[in-house]
Amino acid sequence: MATFSFELYPPRSAAAECALYASLDHLVAAGPEFISVTYGANGSSRDSSLGVLRHLLETDVKPMAHLTCVGSTYADASRVIRQFLDAGITSFLALRGDPPAGVAEGDSFLGDLGSAGELVQLIHHVQEERAPFSQVEVPGFPGARSIHSGEKVTIAVAAFPNGHPRSRSVSQDLDTLLAKEAAGANLAITQLFFHAEEYLRFVDQARAAGVTMRILPGIMPVLGAQRLRRIVELTGESMPIDLLRQLEAADDPGAQQRVGVEHAAALSSAVLAGGAPGLHLYTFNQHEAVLAVLRGAGLLTNVKENA
Ligand code: FAD
Repeated sequence: MATFSFELYPPRSAAAECALYASLDHLVAAGPEFISVTYGANGSSRDSSLGVLRHLLETDVKPMAHLTCVGSTYADASRVIRQFLDAGITSFLALRGDPPAGVAEGDSFLGDLGSAGELVQLIHHVQEERAPFSQVEVPGFPGARSIHSGEKVTIAVAAFPNGHPRSRSVSQDLDTLLAKEAAGANLAITQLFFHAEEYLRFVDQARAAGVTMRILPGIMPVLGAQRLRRIVELTGESMPIDLLRQLEAADDPGAQQRVGVEHAAALSSAVLAGGAPGLHLYTFNQHEAVLAVLRGAGLLTNVKENA
């Protein structure tokens, strides 16, 4: 059965926090595999991200912490990883992160870790150092314990079906993804994309290059033309003219939202039909649209449908 998961960002005000936790109840009730929480560049959202992750630890859903390393020393990055592990987080999305606006690679200190792959290695290293082994009671032998190697953490990484804006070629993106798996990543989540064939072609190329981990497609219901323009600007993706025209032709916000949800549901159905192992949905901290997408793609059961 295909899985689904959600992405949230840490709230920036008390009102946004209330709204997030109301939506979170619905997202948790839907039964996702995990919920990930973004991390501001240079650690700017560390405490607020950790706040949402701690809240998730009290639910039945596994939290996944995004972490970025650009601008950090090894010591800083290790300290943050330890802080998250101490809080009970065992699942990470390891990212390089973007240099501050206007700073080019090589211009100034961009940190000790040059790529997401190095952060993957560091997370494993810190975890192993912290808990090299665990002891488990032996049933039937009171007081006896067997020794097991330490708990392995889940480490996801980003993948870019249409190429990362700074990448020189598709093969560079595939090499980077393969290097991240070799470093110990066990899940990939893609940047958003607007046409199913972009994801499906990328997965074929990644498999041919030797990548074996699951590659979850990142799906974002885009609920307005203005938002679509902003997303394209931020991600460097090509403008999906077909979707833009449909959003512009919709008369009111309600009609625009229907267009966005239907587009994301059709995209989800197409990638699932093409073999995607699940969906990772970008929520914008709201539950209605992503749950409608899951319903459209047939991934919510009757019980969960009332969430
Ligand atoms: P890497 O894997 O190290 O590199 C990514 C790609 O860039 C590679 O394909 C590589 O070929 C190319 N590349 C990198 N450096 C160079 C270079 N110097 N020259 C040429 N090519 C280069 N950002 C945040 O700040 N916080 C978040 O929470 C966050 N969450 C994200 C979640 C997902 C699912 C995705 C897809 C992105 C997210 N980002 C987030 C954005 C991410 O930090 C940026 O895309 C960043 O530019 C690259 O990070 P990475 O981990 O992919 O880096």
